[in-house]
Amino acid sequence: MNTPLILNLKGNSLDDGPGIRTAVFVKGCPLDCVWCHNPEGKKTEAELFVSPDKCIGCRTCESVCEKQAASPDHPGIVDRSKCVRCFSCVEKCPPKCLERLGTEMSIESIVEKCLKDKPFYDISGGGVTLTGGEAAMFPEWCGELASQLYLKGIKVYLETSGHFNYEKVRRHLYPSLSGIYMDIKLIDRDAHIKYCGVPNDLILKNLQRVYKDSRFDFFFFMTRTPLIPGITDTDENLSAIADLYVKIGISETELLPYNPTWYKKAEGLGTAAKNDLIRTEHWQTEEKLEHCKEIFRKRNIAC
Ligand code: SF4
Ligand code: SF4
Ligand code: SF4
Repeated sequence: MNTPLILNLKGNSLDDGPGIRTAVFVKGCPLDCVWCHNPEGKKTEAELFVSPDKCIGCRTCESVCEKQAASPDHPGIVDRSKCVRCFSCVEKCPPKCLERLGTEMSIESIVEKCLKDKPFYDISGGGVTLTGGEAAMFPEWCGELASQLYLKGIKVYLETSGHFNYEKVRRHLYPSLSGIYMDIKLIDRDAHIKYCGVPNDLILKNLQRVYKDSRFDFFFFMTRTPLIPGITDTDENLSAIADLYVKIGISETELLPYNPTWYKKAEGLGTAAKNDLIRTEHWQTEEKLEHCKEIFRKRNIAC
């Protein structure tokens, strides 16, 4: 079984499905979206996150690092071309401006932690959401975790990019899954390759399959589109998504307003520069959001 590293177990989450939830963030994603709001979830391996603004210039990292990769004299503290991600510097940094992202966690320990919040799930209609990264990259592992949670009476949702092995997700995850949120970002295939790193054929195929399954198997299914200025939030793209939903029979969707804070995280991982082309500090206006929603509502799609 392919086992992911865990980025975070975020308790008391109100953003990842109904009620109070614990979001299990796994590390690894087959896509490479330039605006990724969780860039620390893209790579499957552990990464070093640096917060230079916390640095007090003590030079401990410099003395610990055998590769001469860390020094307060380097722009951004760590020279990524030399760093071998041994993480020796992490524990030694007094103000904790060096962090390891991605830890091993057993399924049993995740279940144990989630069980502590079960009373909150029960009173709020919440549960656990598998997210990332792309949790569905690890269908057997997710299936085992979901099944153990299910047996404890905890409802499990999946947040996904839709880029997954359908047969494996169906076999391993469906039996214990209560709901799926699937992101639909771009309809144009070339644009999808340019901005998300992969073609969208598999995603669009899975969209139709999973939507159909949700109607027969009665699990919750919701599509979502992150609104990225000038990329996904154009009239052309949103109209094409809405037209596809009409064709498939999808009558409800969600739009996720642009969140510019992703850039700070990408800077800490040393991956911000390549994504400079879409950097913008601005949140979307209410007028713009309404305009985007109207594109769906005009086609009788609740939004
Ligand atoms: S992770 Fe290892 S190689 Fe990288 S900066 Fe820290 S000590 Fe040096
Ligand atoms: S150990 Fe931490 S605080 Fe000290 S110089 Fe290195 S990064 Fe800065
Ligand atoms: S699919 Fe989600 S997690 Fe993966 S790169 Fe895109 S935005 Fe990031």
